Amino acid sequence: MIGVFGGTFDPIHFGHLRTALDVYEALGLRELRFVPLNVAVHRAQPVASPEQRLEMVRVAVAQQPGFVVDERELRRQGRSYTVDTLRGLRRELGDTQPLCLLIGADAFNGFPDWHRPGEILGLAHLVVMQRPGTAARYADEARVELQRRRAMRVSQLRSAPAGRIWLQGVTQLAISSTEIRRMLAAGRSPRFLLPDAVLDLVGRAVCYRRQTGRPVAAPTQPVGSEISRRPTDLTPE
Ligand code: ATP
Repeated sequence: MIGVFGGTFDPIHFGHLRTALDVYEALGLRELRFVPLNVAVHRAQPVASPEQRLEMVRVAVAQQPGFVVDERELRRQGRSYTVDTLRGLRRELGDTQPLCLLIGADAFNGFPDWHRPGEILGLAHLVVMQRPGTAARYADEARVELQRRRAMRVSQLRSAPAGRIWLQGVTQLAISSTEIRRMLAAGRSPRFLLPDAVLDLVGRAVCYRRQTGRPVAAPTQPVGSEISRRPTDLTPE
């Protein structure tokens, strides 16, 4: 089975990485693909550039076997619809490989309003990540879908390429990219909320500290990476 974890990753943090590892191990995934979006559909557009976010995801997952970065949404023009990403993966991986799309419990509530939710479930299983030991309250439409499709054993995911819904308890870490961006803009350090290698990149990204212009996390290496040469990073401070 292959997992697909889409997100803005603006920046990627331990909330993403720890939950991803929880799912990877619980389901015995062969591979977990991190798919940074290009143009958001249901939310504000990212602050960091696609190249910056891609580099942050790359360094974040580099040390974890089985974690890979999938650039397809960044290469695609226009809005990043999950259904297009899954169609592309299906074309590459064939019709029989089970695909597991990871989404948060909140996102699952809004899932019926996504672009082509029925087709998404024809292409992948949904893995809904939730607080362990608690029953999340799902909206009516999502609850009906869950009752119809819920898998109670991992073997039920393995035995079909798509179409089931799995509830997975994951480590709760109250970390969000929004909060990290707020800290950066206020000149506070987000150290210990995200990997040090990501922190180094974040510290060089002027886009995250526009509001104050103050350095936020002393980079351990001099500015000079491909990312920091982007025009957005050359904005005078
Ligand atoms: P933002 O604060 O900018 O909205 P975010 O921290 O929620 O960003 P995203 O990149 O938008 O991060 O999230 C990608 C996926 O990761 C979503 O499915 C989201 O539910 C999940 N996610 C984000 N943070 C956590 C966390 N701390 N624990 C579990 N899942 C998370």
